Amino acid sequence: MKIYMTDSTYRYDIEALAKAIFKTEDLEATRDLDECGPFLAIIHKKEDDAFNLRVVWKNEKNAISEKSEMVKQPAGDVRGNKKQVRRRLKHLMVKTILGDESANILPWGTLTGIKPSKLVHEMIQSGMNRQEIRSELESEYLISKEKIDLVMGVAGLEHDFIYPPDPKKISVYIGIPFCPSKCLYCSFPTKVNAADRIKEKYVKALAVEIRRYAKEIADYEIETVYMGGGTPTELSAAMLREVLDVLNGTLDLSGLKEFTVEAGRPDTIDEKKLSVLKNSGVDRISINPQTFNNKTLETVRRGHTSEDVHKAWEMVKPFGFNSVNMDLIVGLPGEDIPEMESTMKNVSIIRPDNLTVHTLALKKNAEMRKSSVVKMLPGEDAVAQMINIAENGALSLGMEPYYMYRQKYMLGNMENIGYAKPGKACLYNMQMMNDLQTVIAFGAGVMTKFVSLEENRILRTANYKQVSDYIESPVEMAERKIRTKKILDNANI
Ligand code: SF4
Repeated sequence: MKIYMTDSTYRYDIEALAKAIFKTEDLEATRDLDECGPFLAIIHKKEDDAFNLRVVWKNEKNAISEKSEMVKQPAGDVRGNKKQVRRRLKHLMVKTILGDESANILPWGTLTGIKPSKLVHEMIQSGMNRQEIRSELESEYLISKEKIDLVMGVAGLEHDFIYPPDPKKISVYIGIPFCPSKCLYCSFPTKVNAADRIKEKYVKALAVEIRRYAKEIADYEIETVYMGGGTPTELSAAMLREVLDVLNGTLDLSGLKEFTVEAGRPDTIDEKKLSVLKNSGVDRISINPQTFNNKTLETVRRGHTSEDVHKAWEMVKPFGFNSVNMDLIVGLPGEDIPEMESTMKNVSIIRPDNLTVHTLALKKNAEMRKSSVVKMLPGEDAVAQMINIAENGALSLGMEPYYMYRQKYMLGNMENIGYAKPGKACLYNMQMMNDLQTVIAFGAGVMTKFVSLEENRILRTANYKQVSDYIESPVEMAERKIRTKKILDNANI
């Protein structure tokens, strides 16, 4: 698909939406509109106090559709004006290419961002009522009624947990980038089968980074701690204890509301590790089957079986964690309706407190992209039906959708949804999706997010991705955070 743009101001948004509409990654910029073949032209020009927007679409049959509009630009509000032009350009694109039936073809309408509920919260904060929000989502963002119901429900549930935002409350994330094997769909630079000596060095480096940074957050209340990965339980029980002792001994966790550790791969859990977690204050864990079909688990190289998940669950039960989550992936190679039904049957036997239903995303760095198994991926209609099966299963277990996000390269341009039983929603997940709380992250490959509520601004700072680089530089990683925070503080003066 060829795309012509007057300039690159809105390039990212235009390309992201064009990819969703045309269901292709292959976009080619062109400067020559006279050449043959289909093209999309996006033209925006400033004229006095308004922007003239024009979208021209020539399809494969050489039929041309065209729409244009003038967007008034009140003086002074540069950021607001830019936002408005972006929003109207995207609206015009969908209307020009898909016409009035767009909601059936593109259920998320013009939304290309990954956090739909954040948009609803922004509308609530601007004083809009429920009906006004619904109608704006439908008429301006062209979102389907079904997705509006979903995002309104999620935002309503989240609201009670995350509002009013408090700048003195933060979350802490710890990254453990080790795994027992590499899943075929994984794009994360996790270290597979790392030697104990590397893991030990990593744990020591983590301790250095946490201790170096601790005094910077001494005046904040830590609301949640989330240890993710990778697979944190790929560490030995002794290493896990060391990390948890550093956290408990260095940070003030007296106001903690939730402490999660991802025990993602069931084959990495044992009773020793579970007692370390339980005795260190961890109250939420995650065991991630992804699917309960052994053939698929083998295809995607999960390295465990469905029986391992059931065994892990039996092992976990007596420990009495407040909440246990399970992650599923819809759309894995070779799966269709019967496989999804079988997976949900297994979920209904286990009855976890949370169920997170992801739709497979074919990420750029994932081995799966180059593998022949991509030919075994289910089609969009099947994926949509499987998502419905998962949704019905979660609802029948008494769960409600409580957080959601979208990702690039997802099959069928769908979404990931977290379901929870009443009182079991994960606070960290809700905070992460709505960008209302600072998250201080420690470890390799992690991202710290400083949120300035006052300035409505977010600054992020990344740690080294590779374990070998991180092990050499934990102090530098802590100091990076200190510098970034200073930039934000100075901007606020
Ligand atoms: S468990 Fe997660 S981090 Fe580890 S290889 Fe699989 S997808 Fe990647």
